[in-house]
Amino acid sequence: MMSVRMLNMARRLRPTSFSEIKGQETSLSMLKNSLYLNTLFPTYLFTGQRGCGKTTTGRIFAAALNCELLPEFQKNPQISLPCQSCTSCQMMKKGEHPDFVEVDAASHTGVDDVRAMLEAASYVPLQGKMKIYLIDEAHMLSKAAFNALLKMLEEPPKTALFMLATTEFNKVPATVRSRCFQIHFNALAYETLMTFLQEIAQQENILLTTDAANSIITISEGCVRDGLNILEQISFVTKEITEEVVLKAMGMLPKEYFFAVIQKTFEKQPEKVLEYFEEKPLALANVPHFLHLLIHFFRGLIRVHYKVSLRSNIFAVNEKKLYELYEYVTIEDIHAMMRCLWEVEGILQSASQKEVVLEHLMIKIATRNFSSLSTDSSYLMHDEEPKKNIKAVSSSPVKKSSYETKAESKHSVTVQVQSEKKVKWKQFIESLSSKNRMLASIFQQAIPDESSEMPVLTILFSMKSAFFKEKIADSKDQWHPIFVAHFKGFTEIIISKVIIEQKASSVVQSSTSYGRENREVSGQHVSRLEKKILFKPDEWPQAAALVKEFPGTVEITDIVEKK
Ligand SMILES: [Zn+2]
Repeated sequence: MMSVRMLNMARRLRPTSFSEIKGQETSLSMLKNSLYLNTLFPTYLFTGQRGCGKTTTGRIFAAALNCELLPEFQKNPQISLPCQSCTSCQMMKKGEHPDFVEVDAASHTGVDDVRAMLEAASYVPLQGKMKIYLIDEAHMLSKAAFNALLKMLEEPPKTALFMLATTEFNKVPATVRSRCFQIHFNALAYETLMTFLQEIAQQENILLTTDAANSIITISEGCVRDGLNILEQISFVTKEITEEVVLKAMGMLPKEYFFAVIQKTFEKQPEKVLEYFEEKPLALANVPHFLHLLIHFFRGLIRVHYKVSLRSNIFAVNEKKLYELYEYVTIEDIHAMMRCLWEVEGILQSASQKEVVLEHLMIKIATRNFSSLSTDSSYLMHDEEPKKNIKAVSSSPVKKSSYETKAESKHSVTVQVQSEKKVKWKQFIESLSSKNRMLASIFQQAIPDESSEMPVLTILFSMKSAFFKEKIADSKDQWHPIFVAHFKGFTEIIISKVIIEQKASSVVQSSTSYGRENREVSGQHVSRLEKKILFKPDEWPQAAALVKEFPGTVEITDIVEKK
């Protein structure tokens, strides 16, 4: 007969004494002091991310409270508490203690459950000195249940003690929080987890490489239980655990893929980035994981910039690669990229197509376009109601979407009044995105010039997005019919590049049209690693003329053409 085996490493290795709990020194010493000084609070609130020891600590604290050695401990804090051998401790170990009740609020959220519990709490304990209640996932309690709890907190029974554990501190009403003794549990430090995993691997006769442990920590996000579960799960397959094995088992993106896409992004090759995502949909399968890698990667780059050790970074093992990639960006770029990342984290929660959000983010990074992501992207809208969204935009001309705000801030000299054109442009991109997402995301980078007159629409691309020119020319048969349908009376698009100097207000404009002719703007050959070069007036007559008119300087902040 087949035997059913459960993952049990995390359970088997669950700490039974305070000293076995990792990385929570401050929280534990608060509880131990509470025991030593015999100063107990009716209710404790344990907060912190999942898997950092809240429930385990609650059980140990409960065992200690009823341990027969507690009076001894209060005379001599050196002795180990809970003793794990007295009658009470034995009962706790077996999960049979009559005075200890553990409730999962996720399944007992109702007011009746809480009332029954509170009533039982008012009776004297059966075995120990205290009746102890540990309410896990406390934020799941209903409003009425919290109210019942609050009532009890105003006049707590003398022999009962409550512990509320929650990952979502903010969902516990402030009135309840303020009546609890709050103890915060930190996410486990990288090094603590690394040492712990390696110790366990050794005990269990598993060969675990540093790279592999590193990946497990990344995936488990500081949750000890998850980390142990992953380790155990993989050890069923092999006792030699390498990074590759971990990533494969967890369906994660191998680092070399990650670095490949970063390389293309940093080299400002948006088309290559999109191609990569087309070829490797696997890379997008786990968007949160990809984002997680990105965040740590950028944190790593900041450490590289300030020449600080990468020791605690998940890319510590890839230090050389980080130094290589750092050459492509400035610290300002990194900060701007981080800002985009934080923004994306928020958007991802509600996005219907997470992979599209990620793709869009990478394109923005590849074009060094760091404007707000939140509303300027038409395909971030939920697919169910695209029409409604457009209507909302066009029927309320007073309300500015960030698309327009972006246009105004970037092109304040040329564009000041918003008009039908932007609305139409948005609609055009919307229609195009259902046919060709890649093209839509390219056009997304442009804004229509308000002064355009029929039959030619001028659209403004930042100098940074000028790469797209050829792609747009090559795919004219795809976008042109849609464009004509949206812009009645217009037959052609002219692309105008806009150079924006970041500090001053000068805007220099030079045009390249196509569909009719292909004219190149001269003086755009800048070597890749020279990131900032002051422009030469003789090469840039238009720029020079404008600088005379407007105060400020013009810089070429990016490479536009490469030959
Ligand atoms: Zn004991």
